[in-house]
Amino acid sequence: MARVAVVGAGLGALAAAARLAALGHAVTVLEQAPQVGGKLGWYARDGHGFDTGPSLVTLPRLYRDLFAATGGPLEDAVDLVRLDPAVAYRFADGTRLSVPGDAAAVPAALDVALGAGSGAQWSALMARAEAMWRITEQPFLRSPLAGAATLARLAGSGSDVATVAPWRTLRGLGTAYLRDPRLRTLLDRYATYSGSDPRRAPAVLATVPHVEQAFGSWYVRGGLRRLAEAVAQRAVERGAVVRTGTAVEQVLVEGGRAAGVRLAGGEVLRADVVVSGADAAALYADLLPASRPTRRVRRDLARSTPSLSGFVLLLALRGRTPGLAHHTVLFPDDYDAEFDAVFGVGRHRGAPRPVADPTVYVSAPDDPATRPDDDSESWFVLVNAPRHDPAGGVDWTAPGLADRYAQQVLDVLARRGLDVRDRVRWCVVRTPADLERDTRSVGGSIYGTSSNGARAAFLRPGNASPVPGLFLVGGSSHPGGGLPLVALSAEIVAGLVGPA
Ligand SMILES: Cc1cc2nc3c(=O)[nH]c(=O)nc-3n(C[C@H](O)[C@H](O)[C@H](O)COP(=O)(O)OP(=O)(O)OC[C@H]3O[C@@H](n4cnc5c(N)ncnc54)[C@H](O)[C@@H]3O)c2cc1C
Repeated sequence: MARVAVVGAGLGALAAAARLAALGHAVTVLEQAPQVGGKLGWYARDGHGFDTGPSLVTLPRLYRDLFAATGGPLEDAVDLVRLDPAVAYRFADGTRLSVPGDAAAVPAALDVALGAGSGAQWSALMARAEAMWRITEQPFLRSPLAGAATLARLAGSGSDVATVAPWRTLRGLGTAYLRDPRLRTLLDRYATYSGSDPRRAPAVLATVPHVEQAFGSWYVRGGLRRLAEAVAQRAVERGAVVRTGTAVEQVLVEGGRAAGVRLAGGEVLRADVVVSGADAAALYADLLPASRPTRRVRRDLARSTPSLSGFVLLLALRGRTPGLAHHTVLFPDDYDAEFDAVFGVGRHRGAPRPVADPTVYVSAPDDPATRPDDDSESWFVLVNAPRHDPAGGVDWTAPGLADRYAQQVLDVLARRGLDVRDRVRWCVVRTPADLERDTRSVGGSIYGTSSNGARAAFLRPGNASPVPGLFLVGGSSHPGGGLPLVALSAEIVAGLVGPA
C-alpha cells in the first residue's frame, strides 16, 4: 500500500483518487478551494442554480467504467439524461438547425435545415471520424504518452496514418468533405472543445462530433456538479480522505523522487506517490523545485499555445422562453474573426482581445433544481475569450471591462433573436481572471494547452512526470481536457501506479 497525496479535487484528480483508493492505497486529496469539483462548479442564489463550468457530458461510458471499477454503478449515484435535441444552432444567415440526439436521425435533419445532400456530406465525414476514433482510442487516448513509442503505436499501418492524416487541420478536413459553409462552421466549433483554433487544430478532432452523436449528449439532473460530488463520495467510500481549504505549496522531491507535499501553513504530508490534478503549467512553474528532468517539460509547455478561456454570464431570468433547447449556439457572420481575436493571430496578431461579435452558447436546462419556480429560467451563457494575461494580452480585471463586455454579449444575443434584456433578475459575470483565481488554471485556460499545431498533443505534459513517483491527471495533461478525457487520464494514472 502506498501513501498517495492528490493535489486538487478537480474531476480528474477525484477520479484518480477513487481508483487508487479502490486499489488499496491510502489516499489523501488536498484541495485549496472550500469545495470539490474545480471547474465543475456550481453557483446558487435566490432559488436559481447554475453549473459554472461544464454543461455537456459526452461518453458517459467512461464514468460508468470508473464507477464499476470502484464499487457500484454510475446510475446509482447520478441521474443521467440523454438530450434530444442535442443542440440547436442558429447561423448568421438566419438558418436554424436542431441536431437530434440520435445519430441515425442527424442526416435527415441536416437535409431539411441546410438542403438536400448535406446529410450525406456529414455522414461521409462522420464515417471517417469513426475510423479515426477506432485507430486512436486505445493507443493514444487510453495509453500513457510515450514519445516515439506512442507514434509507433499510432502508425500501426500506412492506411491508419492516411485516415488520421496528422498533417491535416480540422478546417482542412471540413473543406474536403463539406461543401456547405454552415456545415463547415458546425465542424469548426468542435475545435473549441479542446480550446483550440480549427485552422490549426488537427483533423482528428472530428472524433469529437462523432462520439457526441454516436454516444449521445447528456445532462446530469440537478446539475453536472453532482458528478463531481458523486466521484468524491465514491473516493471517500473507498477510504480516501478529502481535505478542502487546503492548498499545496510545494511538491517535495527527495533523492530524485516525489516524497510528499508541503501545505500552505507549513504542514508536511509525506507520501510515496504524488498525483497532481493542478494545472500542469502551475505545477511545473510553482510547485516543483527546478531541476534538469523537469526542464524539458517546461520547454514543451513554453512552445505550446495555451487553450482559450471563457467569459460566462449566469443569468437569472423572469419568465420562460418558448421552444428553447437545452443547448443553443448562435454563430456570428465571421467565425475566423473570433479565433483571430482569442488567439491574437491574423488581423489581431500579437494582440488578443475580447471577441467583438462572438459565437454565443446558451445552456438552459429545463430542470426544476435550477430555478425558483416554473416561471423562471437560469441560463449559463458562454463565449470564447482570450485568457487572462495582464502582461501581454487582455487584463480581465481592468475596471469596467467585464460589465461592458457582459452588456455587449446581451446585445449580441438580442440581435440574434434571444433578447432577454428586460427579463434579467440578476446577472453574475465570470471572467477568465475569475476562473484563474478559483481553480488556479494559469490565465483561466480551460483545457491547459490547446491542440493548435500537429505536435500539440505530444507537447502536452505526460501522466508520468520525469520525477519518479509524481503523476499528472486532469485537463492540462495527456490526453487533454473535458470530462471524458480527464476520466481517461485518471485511468492511465491508476494503471501506472498499480495496485497496493
Ligand atoms: C466554462 C467552462 C465550460 C466547460 N464546458 C465543458 C463541457 O461542456 N464539457 C466538458 O466535458 N468539459 C467542459 N469544460 C472542461 C472541464 O470543466 C474540465 O476539463 C474538467 O472539469 C476537468 O478538470 P480537471 O480535472 O483538469 O481539474 P480542474 O477542474 O481544473 O480542477 C483543478 C483543481 O485543483 C485545485 N488546485 C490547483 N492548484 C492547487 C494547489 N496548489 N493546492 C490544492 N489545490 C489546487 C483547484 O482549486 C481545482 O479545484 C468546461 C470548463 C469550463 C471552465
